[in-house]
Amino acid sequence: MALRIGKKRIFFGLSFLSILTLTLALLLLWFLISPRLRQIHPLLPLLVALGLALFISVVVGGLILLFFSSITERDFLFPHGKKQVTVKVLFPLVTGLATLLGISRERVKNSFVEVNNSLVKATRRRIVVKRILLLLPHCLQNFDCPYRVTSTFANCQGCGKCPIGSLIGLAERYKADIAIATGGTLARKVVREKRPSVIVAVACERDMVSGIQETYPIPVYGVLNQRPNGPCFNTSVDLKRVEQALKFLRREDED
Ligand code: SF4
Repeated sequence: MALRIGKKRIFFGLSFLSILTLTLALLLLWFLISPRLRQIHPLLPLLVALGLALFISVVVGGLILLFFSSITERDFLFPHGKKQVTVKVLFPLVTGLATLLGISRERVKNSFVEVNNSLVKATRRRIVVKRILLLLPHCLQNFDCPYRVTSTFANCQGCGKCPIGSLIGLAERYKADIAIATGGTLARKVVREKRPSVIVAVACERDMVSGIQETYPIPVYGVLNQRPNGPCFNTSVDLKRVEQALKFLRREDED
């Protein structure tokens, strides 16, 4: 069994450190308030300690399952819940700790996207691939392109000056819906209207992380864009990685 840790080490390292910090903080809090609790009832400090121990055990247990699912890309997660812990709870804790330790948010988000993708791979047997949506940011389109592709992709001439033409081809080949969103609000609207069962998204780290969080429980496989001209301007994407994601969802990588 191959173990794939790579960039995920940042997210998991910070996750375990966050939980350790949280445990120490809760222990200190318990130590400080237990005399008061004892005044209320002699057994109350013990009951509170048991409650805290149970809470920490559930969080640590969930994180261990996520870790093994992520590095082995095998499904150790229960049908619901554990992935939500990472998406909703762990991420804010991890980014807070990263800021304190001087680790850039971009690196943490990059690592989070890797973790997210590995969990999508781990849970592939549970993903119902009825409607795939290939969701793209507007900044992929060449800035000087005179054709308006946000309303209809038929306007794209496939001139090769930007990756849009090739992405339309990939969407057709793998029978995916395709949409361009000019921002988070429009992206949410597109997802509501198209009602995909799974999304392959191209975006920068910031938009990708918020997109993954907001569209949960719809699985999102993220491919980060490349920004040779700076953010939000004539960006690009590794087409091979987009194709790998679509192949994986269409189970064509199993041939
Ligand atoms: S491939 Fe060419 S025509 Fe199509 S959106 Fe890009 S620049 Fe415009």
